[in-house]
Formats: sequence, C-alpha cells, structure tokens
Amino acid sequence: MNNLIFTESNQRFKISIPNEILIEVQKLCELSFPNETGGILVGSYSEEFKCADVSGIIVAPPDSKSGPTWFSRGTNGVKGELDRLWFKKKFYIGEWHYHPGSSSNLSSQDIKQMINISNNENYKCPEPILLIVGGKSDLWEYSGYVFPKGKPFVYLISE
Ligand SMILES: [Zn+2]
Repeated sequence: MNNLIFTESNQRFKISIPNEILIEVQKLCELSFPNETGGILVGSYSEEFKCADVSGIIVAPPDSKSGPTWFSRGTNGVKGELDRLWFKKKFYIGEWHYHPGSSSNLSSQDIKQMINISNNENYKCPEPILLIVGGKSDLWEYSGYVFPKGKPFVYLISE
C-alpha cells in the first residue's frame, strides 16, 4: 500500500499519509456526507527533512458541529486523547476536514482557523498541517497545506 505524499517544490516541507489512514478518513467522510466532518492528524516530524509523518487521526469530537459547507471541530476529550497518544510517540501535527462533493481548496475560514492553531501555545505545534478531502466516493480529491507560525501558508503538491 502506497502512502499519499505531499511535497513543496523546494522540498522544505513534506507530508506522508499512509493509505490505511486515508481509507479511515474516506469512511468517515462517506458517513458524514452531505455534511462536513473532520478531526485531528497525529504523528511526528522528522527533524532533518521537515517531513510530517501522519500515523493516526482523531475523529470529530462529540461537541463538533457541521453543515454542508462548514465544520467547527469540538474540543471534548481531545486533551485526554492527545495525552494518551503522547505515550505512543504520536503528537498533534494538524487538522483534517471534508468538503463534501466539492473542491479540496482551502477557504478563508480554514486559513483563519489554522493561523489561530499555529499561534495557540496549547497545541505546541508551530507548523500545523491541514489536509482537506474533497469530492466523494470513488472521486476523492486531496489538498495539503503547512502553516508555519508568523509566515504565509504553503500549498503542497501531491505526488
Ligand atoms: Zn474547509
């Protein structure tokens, strides 16, 4: 099974997402259609190459809210879950969400939320990544972004 890889042209940033995690995400998107859903990406960064290795997800917390064109990720249980995952060396590295039946391009609201996260000391993640899933069953589309704190976000190309 291949990983989904996102890279920047000059190779400064890279995201690697194992196929089994993508399948898990696709199932959640199918269940949620026609409404958005989302959650958290956990994993680790390799120091030398700035590669974010995604090794798991957290599904939408119970206090999340969504409609066909918006998603507000809740926070209930997230801290406890991240504390548990920390012992498995899986750390908060970003967010994922679904744009049902539409483009995986990020919205201005998405940019605002990610900048807030990169500035939020609680997440301890100055370079959070964002995975957006667009389309629907059999015609999925993916976009990947990095939000370095205090700098413009970077769009990554999927290989
Ligand atoms: Zn969005």
